[in-house]
Amino acid sequence: MTDLRLDATQLERYSRHVIMDEVGPEGQRRLLEGSVLVVGAGGLGSPVIQYLAAAGVGRLGIVDDDVVERSNLQRQIVHGDDDVDRPKVESAADYVRALNPDVDVRAHETRVTSETIDDLVGGTDGERTDGYDVVVDASDNFATRYLCNDYCTLSGIALSHGAIYRFEGQVTTFPNDGDGPCYRCIFPEAPEPGTVPDCATTGVLGVLPGTVGCIQATEVVKYLLGAGELLEGRLLMYDAMGLSFETVDVRRNPDCPVCGDDPEIESIHDVGYEGSCTVSSD
Ligand SMILES: [Zn+2]
Repeated sequence: MTDLRLDATQLERYSRHVIMDEVGPEGQRRLLEGSVLVVGAGGLGSPVIQYLAAAGVGRLGIVDDDVVERSNLQRQIVHGDDDVDRPKVESAADYVRALNPDVDVRAHETRVTSETIDDLVGGTDGERTDGYDVVVDASDNFATRYLCNDYCTLSGIALSHGAIYRFEGQVTTFPNDGDGPCYRCIFPEAPEPGTVPDCATTGVLGVLPGTVGCIQATEVVKYLLGAGELLEGRLLMYDAMGLSFETVDVRRNPDCPVCGDDPEIESIHDVGYEGSCTVSSD
């Protein structure tokens, strides 16, 4: 830990953290020294970005290659009506700068692919000082979800997973510091493209990603603090219509293609992510 001290403005800004034994000035310094890459500045990414910025996470990367559309505004609350047609990363970065000048926000207007992910996250180059401690998967597609899982599992970077569908959501956390599990232990392969409809086709309750994203932000803050019990080895499922939460235990699967005993996937370049995220035949 460096000797980063909280100044008077920071002591005031973070006073409700600092007065708690579980956080204190030490915990707040951990947050200020933390770095998080949020993949997707949409429905899930919005509350993640907002709460991590407010909490004083020191470096916040945001990746997205989309522009804001008016139909996003029903749930993607980091963007406003004036941001329509702007790149989402610019709009989200402006929000962060206006909220908390302590946060070094990095906007990456690109797509997370097997070609870009290592540059973005910096997981395989231990020398890099601009790599990230945690990746938050706030994406809306299977290719990105499986890529983030495989990359973070193979390079030992903590990953927060969140997903939503109509009125239901799921969240879990993969610290990737030991015995797993990973996302492929639960869902070994993505469904065939086109078999699972997206938000644009089926709709989504606007507040649903707010609830799920807030849980992801909670997990990231706890991870950076080293406090509490993470959703590690547990998948939390939320049903907004019944307003019920259910947690199921998940274990490392010895047959998992990425973290199992005899893994087929030893590099993200073994996988064709744009199809069903299986080991590519070429
Ligand atoms: Zn696994």
